[in-house]
Amino acid sequence: MEQRRWGDKPYYSLDHYFKSIYGEKIYKAALHAGCTCPVRDGTLDDKGCIFCSAGGSGEFAAALPLTAEGRPDVEAQLDMAMRRVADKFHGSHCIAYLQPYSNTYGDTAYLRNIYISLLSDPRVIGLSIATRPDCLPQDILSVLQELKERFPEKSLWVELGLQTIHPASVRYIRRHYDNSVFEEAVHKLKDLGIPVIVHCIIGLPGEGREQLYSTIEYINTFNVFGIKLQLLHVLEGTDLAADYDARAFEVLTADEYISLLSGALERLSPDIVIHRLTGDGPRNLLIAPLWSTDKKNILNRLHAHMESTGAYQGRRYTAPSGFTTI
Ligand code: SF4
Repeated sequence: MEQRRWGDKPYYSLDHYFKSIYGEKIYKAALHAGCTCPVRDGTLDDKGCIFCSAGGSGEFAAALPLTAEGRPDVEAQLDMAMRRVADKFHGSHCIAYLQPYSNTYGDTAYLRNIYISLLSDPRVIGLSIATRPDCLPQDILSVLQELKERFPEKSLWVELGLQTIHPASVRYIRRHYDNSVFEEAVHKLKDLGIPVIVHCIIGLPGEGREQLYSTIEYINTFNVFGIKLQLLHVLEGTDLAADYDARAFEVLTADEYISLLSGALERLSPDIVIHRLTGDGPRNLLIAPLWSTDKKNILNRLHAHMESTGAYQGRRYTAPSGFTTI
């Protein structure tokens, strides 16, 4: 069977999506809105998810200039982020990406001002908001609906950290919500016409091929817009690092990761856009796996593996019977 391609890749990359919609490369500017999350502030837990560093999985967000009120100045962060990539990035537009912590968790008026300020910026063609599915109360959903109506020409995405569907792993990582909460959140966002991007971690302790593939098949049933597939990173200062030091589990080798990643892509719906294939762990905190810092090498090896096996996104995908469309 001939290998299907999206541009030069055997999967539907975000880059391909951007070029097909906007005709140019689009930069994603990671920004910090100064939020926290309910598994860090004591509402559900105070230790955070077991893999998450104190920076809330967003150490790459631009360093934090502050407003006169002492809150993170997202417009100034955007300027800095655009300046930082100016010499290697030749497009003129970006997606503003509220990355660390839960960016729908906090004072609604404060969050609304940030969303509006970013979407009003002519350089910003869209806003992507990372959060937890249990952080979408009605007042936030109403704000999202308002944004859709007020900025119809701009993209508005919500990213949900699912990571896994398996109860033992859910407990281990201290996710603190059931899959039904994720399902409800996806349906509410779809009702508003807001595309959803799901985060999934590969290599969680106790999970192998079978568990990963069933998480992928579960995600397929929601017909989501995008997925971020991320290698489990062991970061300094986390409880995951303590378990790793105690030899409670082993991290994946590069070969194992590439094989699992290729298998996951083969089972994923060909309509889901791939927003990430590796990980964005901060190098200064990374304990393992150290091979993961060479992202270019991982992608080259993935492409070679998929080429040699004839793999492509959706090759082993079968449409689920309980299919939900937007
Ligand atoms: S991964 Fe997200 S939800 Fe979990 S502790 Fe980190 S910021 Fe909070």
